[in-house]
This record gives sequence, C-alpha cells and structure tokens, in this order.
Amino acid sequence: MNLESIQLHNFRNYRELTLEFAPGVNLLVGDNAQGKTNLLEAIGYLGSGKSFRTQKNSELVYLGEDFAEVKGSVYSQERNQELRWLLFSGQRPRQLYRNGVKKKSAADISGVLNTVLFCPEDLMVLKGGSAARRRLGDNSLCQLRPNYEAALTEYNRILEQKSRILKDRHENPALLEILPEYNTRLCQVGALLISYRARFYDALSKAAKTCHESFSGGKEEFFLSYKTVSTVEDPFAPVKDLTDRLLAHLESHYRAELESSQCLTGPHKDDFDVTLSGLSVKAFGSQGQTRTAAISLKIAQRALMHKESGEIPVLLLDDVLSELDPGRQDFVLNQITDGQVFITCCEPGRFTKLGKTIQIANGKIMEN
Ligand code: ATP
Ligand code: MG
Repeated sequence: MNLESIQLHNFRNYRELTLEFAPGVNLLVGDNAQGKTNLLEAIGYLGSGKSFRTQKNSELVYLGEDFAEVKGSVYSQERNQELRWLLFSGQRPRQLYRNGVKKKSAADISGVLNTVLFCPEDLMVLKGGSAARRRLGDNSLCQLRPNYEAALTEYNRILEQKSRILKDRHENPALLEILPEYNTRLCQVGALLISYRARFYDALSKAAKTCHESFSGGKEEFFLSYKTVSTVEDPFAPVKDLTDRLLAHLESHYRAELESSQCLTGPHKDDFDVTLSGLSVKAFGSQGQTRTAAISLKIAQRALMHKESGEIPVLLLDDVLSELDPGRQDFVLNQITDGQVFITCCEPGRFTKLGKTIQIANGKIMEN
C-alpha cells in the first residue's frame, strides 16, 4: 500500500497543505516544533481514525478553528482510494468518507491504509510499564481485525461503566445488583480479546525470532510469551472456556474489587515478556539488548502485518534513526527496503540519499 498524496486543512499546525509522496522513502526534515510529527500523526489518523498522541480529536484541530480536514489518496487493494476525515473542535461527531461515500466508522476503511509507528519511546518498550506493550499489540490487531477493534471498544466501555459502579455504590448500594451482569459481559468480551491476542503474539514471537537471529548474528534467541489472567492456563482454548476461567478469577476477586473500588483483574492488565536466550529483557537486558530486541519486535510487527494482510504497511519512523548507532541504523534500513516509509529527523545527514526529502518549517513545505 502507498499513500500517494495528502491534503490537510487546519490539522494541528497546518493551515493548508497539499503534498505528494514517493512510493519508497520520504524524509521529513525540519527544526524542532515545525510539524514533522504532526504530519506522521495525520498519516496514521487517515488510515485508522486514531492518533498515536491523543484520544481527543479536538486537539487535532488548529487552535481556535472549528474543524479540520485530512484527506489522502491511497493505492491499496489494487486500486486507488480516497479517504477523507472531518474533525470538529466542539461536540460534533467526526465524519469519514471513502471515495466520496460517507462511512460510519473506522472499521469501514479497515485495511485501506495500515501504518506502523516506530518512535524513540518504543526502544524502551520492553523495560517500562505494560501499557506500552498492550498498545503495540492492540495497534496491529485493531488494524488487522475489525472484530477485535469492536471487542476492544466494547470491553473498555464496560470496564469504565463497571469502575463507575464500584465507585458510586457507596451512595447508591442498589448498583451492586447490576454488577454480575457487567462482569459476565466483561468476561465474554475479554475472552475474545485473549483469543485474538494469543494467536497474534504467537505469530509475532516467531517473526521476531527470525529477525533477531540475523540481527544478533545468531547469538541470541528471541522468545515472546503472552501473559494474561492467571486462571487462563491455555489462551488458545475455546472462547467459552476462557470466559469461564475469567469469571472464576473475577469471583475470587469480588471482595477485593469492592474494597479497592477498582477493576483489579482482566485482560486490561495483559502483558508480554521477551526473553533473549532464556533471560528476561525486562529484568536482565542491557541497554543495547533492550534496544536491539525492541527493533526486532517492531520490524517483526511490520512483517507480520504484511503477511496477514498481503500489503506492506506504511512505516512511520519518528526521530528513531537519529537515536541509533550506525550499525543499528543500517540494520533497520536494510530490513525495510520494501514498501513506503516516512522518516522524520532534524539533521538528515547521511539519510538524504535514501529518497524524497521534504523540508518542513512552521507548518509549511519549503520548496527546494
Ligand atoms: P520535534 O523535532 O521537536 O519533534 P516536530 O517538527 O515533530 O518537532 P510537531 O510535534 O510536529 O513538531 O509540531 C509541534 C508544533 O505544532 C508545536 O509548536 C505545537 O504548538 C503545534 N501544534 C500542535 N497542535 C496544534 C494545534 N491543535 N493547533 C496549532 N498548533 C498546534
Ligand atoms: Mg517530532
């Protein structure tokens, strides 16, 4: 898949922008705070309806303006397609069009423009908190499986409602009567998430193992293991069995959840661990190993999405190359010779010969 061109109106710090892209590498160059990441954000949003920086659409609209527009021409699924989003600064719901036809939700444009973002924080994804690792998995699964995205949205909604019940029950004890209903649905939808995740992480582990083998010259063996609720012994089990396991775990935490007024257990706490030749990166990995394993993981994520969807997702490298030593830079660049890539950097240095260079200053493109 290829993003051929983009048009922005009042998106972040862009007033008006019309830009054509190269099918290979596009280098976005400019000083700090000029709009490089904003452009990557627009590309990611165009395909997924999600920003990698904010949950609030209103933040994407140029400050003080009523609405923003993001429009792009994409070549994918063997045809040209036009995507267009209208976002509003107030309460008005956003609008989506595909080839001029209004669509209900991002699920209706699933697979048209998939993206994988790689930014400096991802280099530490194996060390920090579990939320970043869940985001990595969710990001791919939402793009590959519209049913997963629907389940995740429902799960998060029920979780929020349940949290509110746990908090409000002191003033309104009758709320406790509806809690079992919420728990049942939470476990049914949660079981679905676990089932998708088990398969995805298994495939991701295999893809990253191959990648890491060549990266480490065969010295380290990469293995990723998916961690979910402790009563789930086999995440590949039928969804019905997973549901029962989750319910059992919730029941054993019933008192604790009431006492803490928090949703203590469920796949919203899922995680994964990566080991290199048997040693956990989170616990024992050196700086270099942690970064190298993270790069393998990211490249594997892209390769897996390619395999699953038949299209190479567009890669968004935000400032990440300049964070790496030349050896790791070369590894990344050698692994991504196919497909379309957007690279942001302040100092292009040796990258300028890679492809099309686009100079950005204050939300505008500088003509060379
Ligand atoms: P760096 O090299 O530091 O990462 P960058 O070129 O990636 O910089 P961006 O994050 O793309 O910078 O752009 C940041 C600029 O966009 C900031 O100056 C910020 O104030 C401006 N900006 C962000 N959101 C909006 C908005 N909704 N309206 C107007 N300007 C905005
Ligand atoms: Mg930036």
